[in-house]
Amino acid sequence: MAIDQKSPSAWSVLGLDIGGTEIKAALVNGKGDIIASQRVATPRTFANLQQTLKKFAQEFRLKDGDVRGAGVGCKGIIDPETTEVLALPGELNYLQGLRLRGILEPILPAACPVAADNDGRVALVGEHRWGAARNRNNAIMLTLGTGVGGAILSDGRIVRGAGGIAGHLGHVTVDPDGGLCICGNRGCLETVFSARAIEAEAFAAIHRGVKTQLLGMDSMPPGCNDIFECARKGDEVARIVVERTTRILGSAIAGLVHILDPEVVILGGQIAQAGDFLFQPVQQELDWRTRHLVRRKVPVVKAQVADPSGVVGAAALAIEAATDAGNIPGS
Ligand SMILES: [Zn+2]
Repeated sequence: MAIDQKSPSAWSVLGLDIGGTEIKAALVNGKGDIIASQRVATPRTFANLQQTLKKFAQEFRLKDGDVRGAGVGCKGIIDPETTEVLALPGELNYLQGLRLRGILEPILPAACPVAADNDGRVALVGEHRWGAARNRNNAIMLTLGTGVGGAILSDGRIVRGAGGIAGHLGHVTVDPDGGLCICGNRGCLETVFSARAIEAEAFAAIHRGVKTQLLGMDSMPPGCNDIFECARKGDEVARIVVERTTRILGSAIAGLVHILDPEVVILGGQIAQAGDFLFQPVQQELDWRTRHLVRRKVPVVKAQVADPSGVVGAAALAIEAATDAGNIPGS
């Protein structure tokens, strides 16, 4: 970690991404550039989380620097007004009922505002400020990772809904009798197109003894990236899995486009790294399904912010909060 010495006087904000596997933190400047960053395995207890944050604060010299605000992207359902974690099943369950603002304030300079929201929405806030949704008023974003996150920008505003749930695009039902989902429903998009779902389908084929190059991969069971790579090289099993699931992703997006009429559809997360091999078939699927009602091509594009981990989006949220608080001039 190094503090950028070229512009020591420029202000920055703290972006924090709290995920199930890792916690990432970064100092980000007003242009969306990462000045310094850190990542650690997600602490399993609240006391360890506090220790981790303290360490970040020391390494980033938060108390001495010109930090104007902090933003947090977190799994689960977050109340953006209070920053309270309303629902967060799994390893980070200890955060449920706590206010992220209260947890961060001790490591920040006085009068430093703290904003927080669900990680999917935070990613779109970042794309809206610096990335693929810049100068757009209507956009959909899906983050394709172990699960599927999402967010909606509609008429210039991030949609939150009556209970703060809006934008959970990974839980659109694509198969009424499909696999059980973490949310309790059956056949959500996430049960078909996510790293876990794709890995599970490929593994099931291997387990049944279907002949495939996936058996020769270094990691067993093969990871989602391996499966896409094998599909690209022409392995039949990998190709069948990728083609089927990609088609379902494209059709789910077509449904969302009919509902929300966006200017652009942004795909982020680990699986979006597959590039054209993913984007071309998704675009094709979307185009034919929307040709009569939408009557224009809605581009499906890759997320663009400097760091895909969510810290830059969290920083964008921090800038919004710091601007509202009068800590930085409005843009
Ligand atoms: Zn679900």
